[in-house]
Amino acid sequence: MQYKSTRNSGLRLEASQVIAQGISSEGGLFVPERLPDIRGELSEMAGLGYKELASKIFKLFLTDFTDEQISYCVENAYASEKFGGEPVKLISLPEAAGNMHLLELWHGPTCAFKDMALQILPYFLTVSLAKSAPGREAVILVATSGDTGKAALEGFRDVPGTRVIVFYPQDGVSPVQKRQMATQEGRNVNVCAIEGNFDDAQTAVKKIFTDIKIKYALSEHDFIFSSANSINWGRLLPQIVYYFYAYFQLCKGGKLAVGEPMNAAVPTGNFGNILAAYYAREMGLPIKKFICASNSNKVLTDFINTGVYDRRREFYTTSSPSMDILISSNLERLLYALSGEDSGVLSGWMEQLSAQGHYDVGSGLHSKIQELFFGGCCDDSATAHAIARVWNNDSYLLDTHTAVALDVYRQYIESTGDISTPTVIASTASPYKFVGSVLGALEPPCGSDEYENISRLEALTGTQAPVQLKTLRDKPVRFSTVIESSQAAGYVLKTLGIGE
Ligand SMILES: *Cc1c(COP(=O)(O)O)cnc(C)c1O
Repeated sequence: MQYKSTRNSGLRLEASQVIAQGISSEGGLFVPERLPDIRGELSEMAGLGYKELASKIFKLFLTDFTDEQISYCVENAYASEKFGGEPVKLISLPEAAGNMHLLELWHGPTCAFKDMALQILPYFLTVSLAKSAPGREAVILVATSGDTGKAALEGFRDVPGTRVIVFYPQDGVSPVQKRQMATQEGRNVNVCAIEGNFDDAQTAVKKIFTDIKIKYALSEHDFIFSSANSINWGRLLPQIVYYFYAYFQLCKGGKLAVGEPMNAAVPTGNFGNILAAYYAREMGLPIKKFICASNSNKVLTDFINTGVYDRRREFYTTSSPSMDILISSNLERLLYALSGEDSGVLSGWMEQLSAQGHYDVGSGLHSKIQELFFGGCCDDSATAHAIARVWNNDSYLLDTHTAVALDVYRQYIESTGDISTPTVIASTASPYKFVGSVLGALEPPCGSDEYENISRLEALTGTQAPVQLKTLRDKPVRFSTVIESSQAAGYVLKTLGIGE
């Protein structure tokens, strides 16, 4: 299996090169040259445990990895002590309307679905770098607005051959998120706050990545920069697995016979999670409709409904912050596939997006998108409503992101009447990770002390907060450095023990 770029169809690279490089040099995203078709093997695969299923799928894509290397990656990433058993769980809700099944993807160390990919990426990356840059230590730089930084820290902690340095905006993350990062354990991790907002942190990191002098200094000392960015193929691939797993769980539970279709509803930000579901369908998983759910930043809802992508709009800060995004980078991969892999046309749209802030895919491609996707959005008040309704009817506690998807599934039923197709809703975070908004939905108004809110939500619902969130308060703070963004490069060099 080789890979090409969405903006250069002539390119051919191996999986390890694609994972080590992250993004193609002309700015395109890496995609497999074709998707393996495993339609005929579904019945056989239905009995596999999560790790076996993951290995089976990874072997189809990582053809320059040995079987031993794949099993090294899978065994380390999805070890049961990290996830408390099988990495994902499927919960069926007895709601009167619809046929819904919540795919809980947040049983990993940081209580959000990003662990599913960021627990395994460090292993993919170290195997890949051993091929392309043997003997080098990988330095992962991350600018984060919250969830990704913590997931990267946990994923890379104590992984041999890696260092991770996370920058977060001093005033731009929640108290729980700040504490999660400041108390991070591990010998190879560093965390630093930057004065300013997320853009300041992001700009500082980008500058370091592209600074020739720093790159040279690193290389002199056998270090190499790498990225854990959400457009890396190594983050997308692990997400394909759980859609197959969910389908087979439905088959086991007698909800479906192998070959019958399900729907997938996904709370969407950067379009990575829902794109993984699309790739699963292209490989032969029977998915009827992709239900793409947005919060008030509804650039994707409008795109699915009109064929025009337009980021020239107000940005809202919502109760589902991990979906507060106006440029959904992974959409480029879908458009590449649906446009017949026309990298010329695609490059044009992407240029237009960065220069003018919008593009129009035309009626032919728009109708293909509408055949596959249902787009809907949900504001903060409807999100809170969904949380309260599901708690009152089913005693099931949703986080804010998952609640957005559930509400858009309800809109899908209203608009199509399809209440019979089993629908898997991606549940992307523990409700305790966004405890203020979740508690506020059940018992408004709530205070601003997050630890008090955790105790209150436990008492009110009789559910248990994940222990890694509850014990945060008692953990010693390891990182308290705050710097100006102009000092970030010096911080990196000092951390690595190089000069300055
Ligand atoms: C990142 C994130 C999302 C959005 O996923 P994308 O792959 O970016 O579409 C949704 N929910 C939570 C909790 C997240 O952390």
